[in-house]
Amino acid sequence: MQELLKYQELDSKLRKLNGEIENNQNRKKANEMQQYMRETQSKIISLDESAAVLVANLNKLKTEYNAVISKIEQLSKVEAEKAEDLEKIENELSKLYDALSKIERDLANMQNKLVSVNKEFENYMKNAKTAKSNLVYYKQEFEKSKAEVAPKLDELGKALAEQKTKVGPELMSKYLAKAEGRIFPIFVPFVNDRCGGCHMEIPAGKIKELNAKHYIECENCGRYIYKI
Ligand SMILES: [Zn+2]
Repeated sequence: MQELLKYQELDSKLRKLNGEIENNQNRKKANEMQQYMRETQSKIISLDESAAVLVANLNKLKTEYNAVISKIEQLSKVEAEKAEDLEKIENELSKLYDALSKIERDLANMQNKLVSVNKEFENYMKNAKTAKSNLVYYKQEFEKSKAEVAPKLDELGKALAEQKTKVGPELMSKYLAKAEGRIFPIFVPFVNDRCGGCHMEIPAGKIKELNAKHYIECENCGRYIYKI
């Protein structure tokens, strides 16, 4: 049991170190930057699509505009012979001018939209650039701290492997069966007739079993309660 407890102690140190790497602030920030860049990229793509649609509409409007202009030019050249013809031509012209000013308004709107899409696009590009350089920085910092703990991690890993050979196979397999689970430590002492992990009181029958076997499984938390 003593050897197993030594193993658990080493395992605990290793878990703590791995936890520190897992929770490293630079690592978290680097992940955030990566996420941000992915989101920005999809926004840039959709802005690109909106800009393409706007440009196509803009070109369509320009063609319409030119068509109206040439109609107006043609009509202006027609010389009216009768007063009623003149009236007709003037009516037609006035309709065309109305159409023209509507197209002009639409064109102005469309151009404004395009300007704002471009502005948004530039902003996203600028932010993506910043995020990228931040990502490089956070990654480097994370790699640095990882490199710092690497020798210690290696040392602990070796010590753990060595200690494993000293633990009896039955205890070791009981330990390893729970090592991937959520509970840790896996082996806890028997304290004042209670489980040293969850503090549940152990019934008398179970205490007898504990005295004979030196360890029992806690019915409440699933840890092993030991008594040396
Ligand atoms: Zn318990």
